[in-house]
Amino acid sequence: MVSLADRQGIASLLRRSTDELVAEADGIRRRLHGEGVWIRGLLEFTNRCSCNCLYCGLRRDNGKVVRYSLDEEEILRSVEAAFARGLRTFVLQGGEDADWSTDRLCRLVEAVNVRTSGEAALTLSCGIRSRDDYRRLADSGADRYLLRFETAHGARHARLRDGVSLKRRLQALDDLRETGFEVGSGFMVGLPQETDEDRLDNLCLSVDLELDMVGIGPFIANPDTPLAQEPSGSMEETVRMTAALRILLPRANIPATTAAGSLAEGGREAMLNAGANVLMPNITPLAYREQYLLYPGKDTISQDGIRDLDEIEARLLRLGRRADLGRGDSLAYRRRRDGNESAL
Ligand code: SF4
Repeated sequence: MVSLADRQGIASLLRRSTDELVAEADGIRRRLHGEGVWIRGLLEFTNRCSCNCLYCGLRRDNGKVVRYSLDEEEILRSVEAAFARGLRTFVLQGGEDADWSTDRLCRLVEAVNVRTSGEAALTLSCGIRSRDDYRRLADSGADRYLLRFETAHGARHARLRDGVSLKRRLQALDDLRETGFEVGSGFMVGLPQETDEDRLDNLCLSVDLELDMVGIGPFIANPDTPLAQEPSGSMEETVRMTAALRILLPRANIPATTAAGSLAEGGREAMLNAGANVLMPNITPLAYREQYLLYPGKDTISQDGIRDLDEIEARLLRLGRRADLGRGDSLAYRRRRDGNESAL
């Protein structure tokens, strides 16, 4: 657990100006990660969800969503097309969909590995499962798992996430770590009633969890949820949190997230300038894309993730960065796996 002294250090970090935070974070990113930006193919394979998180457009009670679940062949065809274009990391993300049992997911993971000759890293983002389920997914060949905690505030977590306790989510993150996954988590910036103390707690919990990947993004009010009238989070605060995370978890992979690009023009670029080193273009077939609306104005609907790679590469060059299509294992994970504390 983060000590009192460390907590005070993190609090003092947050008293610094945005320019100071960004400059230090960008320097760390350059030194440890260079100019490359890892490109991951994101496939949103099911928008069905049995959960009812208050902020989420895919929540069970939102009757306006046309529900879909891709079949195995559709998923594999999307992966193959992106693999042929050079991508070597895929993120399979979905709601908590009972039709996607762990057995079925294991078979999918094995099929992805066959179709990509075992050359691609596979990340799953499929919610809370048992430790045994995580073990079987890892044994099937999944490499990484994303499970965001969203807020470190216990009571708010339970309220926002339909009664699921923070303790249960942290147990799942522990199970993932013990299973040997490269583990990602993160939080939303600017949730309703968020305080300075909450932001500090979110950072402290991220440090405590020694995350290999940290994904954050601004809260964006979805009109079809109970939080429709709440103000959205700010880009400035999102940039500050990104920079703070890069300083506190220098070896973690940090994506410039779609939510930031949706909240503000240039939002993802601002995150890249503040220490982020990953982009996740959407490779979900276009016919399904507009039904995966966690929040409104999502910045990927009319784009084709594969064809957009040329545009992404050009945009990164304009920022002085370079698209890297490789596996991009987290430096934090590699260091832990190899037991080499002196490694980068
Ligand atoms: S946040 Fe995730 S678990 Fe919660 S309703 Fe949305 S898709 Fe389901």
